[in-house]
Amino acid sequence: MANRRDFIKKTALGTLGISTTIGCKDLAKGEQKAPVLPADYATVKPIIISTWKHGFSANESAWNVLTNGGSVIDAVEAGVMVSEGDPNERSVGLGGLPDREGKVTLDACIMDHNSNCGSVSFLQGIKHPISVARKVMEDTPHVMLTGAGALKFALSKGFKEENLLTPESERDWKKWLEQSNYKPIINIENHDTISMLALDENNNLSGACTTSGAAWKMHGRVGDSPIIGAGLFLDNTVGAAAATGLGEAVIRTAGSAMVVEQMRMGKSPTEACKTIVERIYTIHKNHKDMDYLQVGFIALNKQGEYGGYSLRSGFDYAVCDGKQGNRMEDASFKMEWNEN
Ligand code: ASP
Repeated sequence: MANRRDFIKKTALGTLGISTTIGCKDLAKGEQKAPVLPADYATVKPIIISTWKHGFSANESAWNVLTNGGSVIDAVEAGVMVSEGDPNERSVGLGGLPDREGKVTLDACIMDHNSNCGSVSFLQGIKHPISVARKVMEDTPHVMLTGAGALKFALSKGFKEENLLTPESERDWKKWLEQSNYKPIINIENHDTISMLALDENNNLSGACTTSGAAWKMHGRVGDSPIIGAGLFLDNTVGAAAATGLGEAVIRTAGSAMVVEQMRMGKSPTEACKTIVERIYTIHKNHKDMDYLQVGFIALNKQGEYGGYSLRSGFDYAVCDGKQGNRMEDASFKMEWNEN
């Protein structure tokens, strides 16, 4: 129980503006969970949520930034960089599965509490597209740069060009080429896009989203993930939302922006996500994509309430706060994979 005392001491220091050292990882270990919280933590701020299992380690990194004096935008950037830099994550950054021509092409966007945003799409050869997106936000008059222009910009900012196609991803691509049968697979094993949303102690939101997109996509295809309003959206007076899944379906419905609008109208984060998933289902139920359609949303409101919802089973997300530590939660869903 000494740990609980330490926790309270550290959180009390945090409320005085002194950086805290609580580790999400440590808090996840049962004995270090704090059953009683100082009043300032009653609203569980700060809080970080992110998609899929790789969100767990991304949350740890973001939490370290947030609790050591970093800003919320620094935190979400540092968080998703963990997945981008991990060659074993086959749907983000280094090691991401390539398009049908064997090229790893990356999409990412970032947004802060003042509605500043930056984005890159169809970017090749840069391991951390989220950091390029942040530079677009901060150092250009634009929101989005794409392809060769985005690469040129990244190089001008000192980013290094490197080969992102790992031997494992190249092997899988060559195997796919044997049949060349395009069918997006979005499930818990594949891990997919990382989207992260965070709310800091000052009540400010930020979000980040980064992906190598759908494996074996057409060369030049851009998904929802770099599109503000589709893959990610936030309004600092309401809340934030982000998507994973078949980007085309999320773009058709302006998914994340709509989830935020549902929260503005009073819905809880989970209900807001569910409403837009239902809308996606209604639009796609007779669509050729329906057999493999999966979409999932996460959402976080200004009170620190969060939720997630997906069309089909298998979507989970990582949540980290000072009350319960870092943990995985299963999203509720509309249907099983064998239903239509
Ligand atoms: N939304 C991403 C895309 O369509 C893929 C994913 O989340 O799995 O590019």
